[in-house]
Amino acid sequence: MKSLAAILASVLGVALGGNVALAQAPKSGVERLYVVDCGTSVGPDKSRWTPGVDVGKPLDMVGNCYLIRHAQGWMVWDTGVSDDVANMPDGRPGTAGSPHWRRSKTLAGEIEKLGLKPADIKYLAVSHTHPDHIGNVELFPQTMLLVQKAEYDWPSPAGPRFKPSHPVTKLEGDHDVFGDGSVTIVSTPGHTPGHQVLLVKLPKFGAVLLSGDAVHIKESFEKRYVPSNNVDREQTLKSYQRIADLLAQHKAQLWINHDAPQRATLKLAPEYYE
Ligand SMILES: [Zn+2]
Repeated sequence: MKSLAAILASVLGVALGGNVALAQAPKSGVERLYVVDCGTSVGPDKSRWTPGVDVGKPLDMVGNCYLIRHAQGWMVWDTGVSDDVANMPDGRPGTAGSPHWRRSKTLAGEIEKLGLKPADIKYLAVSHTHPDHIGNVELFPQTMLLVQKAEYDWPSPAGPRFKPSHPVTKLEGDHDVFGDGSVTIVSTPGHTPGHQVLLVKLPKFGAVLLSGDAVHIKESFEKRYVPSNNVDREQTLKSYQRIADLLAQHKAQLWINHDAPQRATLKLAPEYYE
């Protein structure tokens, strides 16, 4: 006697007329990834990110923001230092070893050049809440913010990390943003309590992992350096391993947010990857 599954298979086979496309997984809805210039910076002492190595040497860095076009809407990943820095002729000096930032372009201006308004952005996610990543969150006051609960609730001497009125989804772990597996937030604590990275599976280019500050420069990932200002060493090392596993599993490229030599090799908005 035929099993129920076999009967269903034969019935469906006839009904679909052998149309293989219908039997495949749903099409990924992600269409484009834009890399947006969100500034350049100089860290006064590289060894903040490479403890014991290159002590006292300055480090040239960059800051990237990213825009994702998905069939269901637009998403922004990381917002850089505040656009106000573009109006400061000498940029904004860092404090306590943090980098000195300069901006030649604004996030608001780059979005406008693509014909978008802030209200067109459906989702906004930040890797973590350091000032060089959340500087322009309030450019998008109506956009749903996707952030780890551990980051949102992390006490700050300066008060709440986000405006309490900002719409938010507090995540507890990984999150499939559009429900089709094409854009996934992955929890990677260590740099901060609720740090997260973003895996984007582009239909033509392939998979890209956007690092946030889980990795600062290529060298830190290769040598598994734990920056001196990270909140948790063990979590940092586990997150490095998680990232390495994801890169292998998805044959993904690692795009490191602050890595200046790498950004020099990337196409910047209005160009895009698809
Ligand atoms: Zn940063």
